[in-house]
Amino acid sequence: MMEALRKASSVRGAMLVAVAYGLFAALWMLLFDLVIDRLFDDPQDIPRLQAVKDWGFVAATSLVLFCAVWHRTRVSREHLRRFMEQRAELNLLGQFRESVIDNASIWINVLDVGARVTVWNKAAEQISGYSRKEVLGNPLIWEWLYPDPEYRARIIKTVADILDQGVEVEDFETSIRVKSGEWKSIAWNSRRFFNEQGEIIGSIAIGRDITAYKQAEQRLVERERQLATLMSNLPGMAYRCLYDETWTMKFVSNGCRRLIGYSPEDLVDNHTLSYASMIHEEDLGPLQAEIERALTENRSFTAEYRVRRKDGQDLWVWEQGRAVLVDGRQYLEGIIADISRRKAMERELKLLAIRDVLTGLYNRRHFEQTLRADLDRARRYGRPLSLLLVDVDHFKSINDRFGHQAGDEVLRQLGRVIQSSIRAADYAARYGGEELVVVMPEIEGEEAMTTAERLRGLVQATDMMGEPHGATVTISVGVATHPHHGSTPEEIFEAADRAMYLAKQRGRNRVCRAA
Ligand code: GH3
Ligand code: MG
Ligand code: MG
Repeated sequence: MMEALRKASSVRGAMLVAVAYGLFAALWMLLFDLVIDRLFDDPQDIPRLQAVKDWGFVAATSLVLFCAVWHRTRVSREHLRRFMEQRAELNLLGQFRESVIDNASIWINVLDVGARVTVWNKAAEQISGYSRKEVLGNPLIWEWLYPDPEYRARIIKTVADILDQGVEVEDFETSIRVKSGEWKSIAWNSRRFFNEQGEIIGSIAIGRDITAYKQAEQRLVERERQLATLMSNLPGMAYRCLYDETWTMKFVSNGCRRLIGYSPEDLVDNHTLSYASMIHEEDLGPLQAEIERALTENRSFTAEYRVRRKDGQDLWVWEQGRAVLVDGRQYLEGIIADISRRKAMERELKLLAIRDVLTGLYNRRHFEQTLRADLDRARRYGRPLSLLLVDVDHFKSINDRFGHQAGDEVLRQLGRVIQSSIRAADYAARYGGEELVVVMPEIEGEEAMTTAERLRGLVQATDMMGEPHGATVTISVGVATHPHHGSTPEEIFEAADRAMYLAKQRGRNRVCRAA
């Protein structure tokens, strides 16, 4: 258009110059001839005047030509200068654009309407590993970046939508395989663009390498997943609750189903019941106190307490927790584990420590301890206490005749008989081999004698060995009483031992009182 205008104006200029030149020549000739006619009459002057007219014409046209050419040259030089200036400016702008595009830290590429790469900046080279030379106009780039045919087809479809439908994509994430074989995640923004005539000439895309971010996100998701798995497989239950009156649960791990029989939904926000209401009333106070202490001392807390399971059974649990401040609110969080087996074992160990394994009665050590404590109390309050020392008669021969196992059975049976014939306040113990003792607080000599006699009769009447042996087992019993026979365990025991020895001497199967 501009070119056509320019052409038209230069033709008009040339015609104008030609017309002006013709007019000038015609005027010159007419005017000169008129002047000669009017002013000169002498015919001799005519040739000279003609020569002046011709040379004058030559001079005048030369001058006009000179002026015209000089003007043209000046104008075109000016044009040329301006053109050169403009070209330099355009060049600079182009370079600037190129350098901006090229040195940008984000991937920039341009595709033509055939989805062939026409611009591939340095960042694109850097991220993809493919150089501009390899990529420009090369349709293989799609296969290189997207080796999976299905995935590639999806990407190419998106590119086609951008070019044909005018779709604009924003943060469109793709996984590309770069030249080194590594996979990278790129987030794309892309749209098509037009030339001055309004024709689509391609699409421009910028891509951000979000691989590191994606990997971090992936790691986070993975960690989250691991923690969730860990939480749900935790032997016991993890929780977070508000530090309020009822310890309103805000999070409870799945383990609570196994631990207490309730589901997390039952407990969260006290939906069915509060956790606090499940705690054994004897243990609630001490637990609250421990949490209070831990909070003031700024440490984590541990506690062992009983909770009532959904099935109504009490369960011993161990808890370790700490206080945390979240969004200005005080929370408690921790884990709770089942320790019922440990508690049962502890109970058993405690029993084992004080019981005799064979008879189930107290053992000698525990007997000595309790006797000392009971005698101390009896002395302090001036109260009586009696001690029976029981020894099986001819036990050796039972062993010899029926075997050691049968002897053991006699001892077990004896333990049962004694245990069943004494009061709740009394207690029996196995002192040694086949010697048992019974401690009877608050009981004086006569009553003790009666009890001992009853016991002796009971043993004699009981089939202590069971079928098939059927032998009669008898016992000899020595009785001593505080304060009558002494006030220390040793004194009392020796007195009972002496009495028992007396019973043996007097023919066994009898009860004797210390002298
Ligand atoms: P006595 O009437 O004089 O008491 O006669 P005895 O045979 O019972 O004599 P003594 O009390 O001295 O005998 C104790 C015997 O008890 C010796 C030992 O073999 C037996 N004995 C000790 N401890 C056990 C035990 O745990 N199991 C069995 N089966 N026998 C035991
Ligand atoms: Mg003995
Ligand atoms: Mg004996």
